[in-house]
Amino acid sequence: ASSITLEGVEKSFSREAIALDGVDLTIKAGEFFTLLGPSGCGKTTLLRILAGLDTPNAGVVSIGGVDVTAVPPHKRSVNTVFQSYALFPHLSVEDNIGFGLKMQGVDKAERTRRVREMAEFIKLSPLLSRRIHQLSGGQRQRIALARALVCEPDVLLLDEPLSALDAGLRGQLQVELQRIQRRLGMTFVFVTHDQQEAMVMSDRIAVLNDGKIQQLDTPRAVFERPANAFVARFMGHSNLLEIKRRGADRLDTAIGPLTLPADAEHMNDGDLVLIRPETIELGDDALGQPNRFDATVVESFYRGSHFEYRLQVEDVALTAFSSNQGQKLFAADDRVPISISPSDLMTVRGEG
Ligand code: ADP
Ligand code: MG
Repeated sequence: ASSITLEGVEKSFSREAIALDGVDLTIKAGEFFTLLGPSGCGKTTLLRILAGLDTPNAGVVSIGGVDVTAVPPHKRSVNTVFQSYALFPHLSVEDNIGFGLKMQGVDKAERTRRVREMAEFIKLSPLLSRRIHQLSGGQRQRIALARALVCEPDVLLLDEPLSALDAGLRGQLQVELQRIQRRLGMTFVFVTHDQQEAMVMSDRIAVLNDGKIQQLDTPRAVFERPANAFVARFMGHSNLLEIKRRGADRLDTAIGPLTLPADAEHMNDGDLVLIRPETIELGDDALGQPNRFDATVVESFYRGSHFEYRLQVEDVALTAFSSNQGQKLFAADDRVPISISPSDLMTVRGEG
């Protein structure tokens, strides 16, 4: 496996279309690294630059400690699985998967063995003798994956490789891919716009927006300590309140004044507090606690492991989760006291 470093990488296609706006990052050898962000944020451009298919306007790309910025694609020890899986329609599934090995000069017996093993792994064994045009989009995507994996490159670049699969198979392959990456010790650079997928698969995640890295950290840190409002929203957090300073130890928000968490001295107007739904105390548990508010229940949903309550506090919609053990259940239109412990309030930097 190889490490990858990008320093000051910039790419624009025109004066308006700036795809990457100064990207610095280091991907460790053998790491499952994910680029996560909305459509158009620059994920594919970054992969194409790693593969050597696009040249940056500025900056340096190194793979395995070697500056490859000017090295053509076929001289990099990198394989790519693209969103549009370019398979050979006239070849069988088996020959498609084995194509890269044949190019490397691997002999027939060894090729057959490795292709069959990979097909087993990626659940394609029954299809090996079929032709590409006889297969579904999801099957084609898995063949493209198998074709790249079987070559065991130092670095594998994967551009939304599971996006054409239905939920069940997608979940299975998320686990399988992670397993195969660990087993072969390859460096994976995986692209997705799906925050759940990024969280279950990755060692580390770089969240991208507008061609800039917003945060680079472990899945847990990105989810639990989002670096700014964009990351917080993109990771699916909804209970975000913009703050206004009101003296040293109080913040004002749209639901009323809040007592600060201990680390909030640095907060300024326009920053936000994030209230995790599971930290909101409801009903009797809220009485006598700090940051107590009166909420109206709008809707409630049974979610199996917990109940979800959509609440209205002043003009603000909040979501709270509560386990049903020993809890009184609340119904629509109930007035319910809620409280949020100051230590459970997360502080998040504003976007500007
Ligand atoms: P993502 O993969 O995250 O959806 P892309 O890297 O494909 O994003 O695109 C990033 C930005 O660069 C977008 O604004 C896109 O329109 C622009 N872009 C990408 N490729 C080209 C190109 N070949 N010509 C012009 N603009 C491009
Ligand atoms: Mg893309």
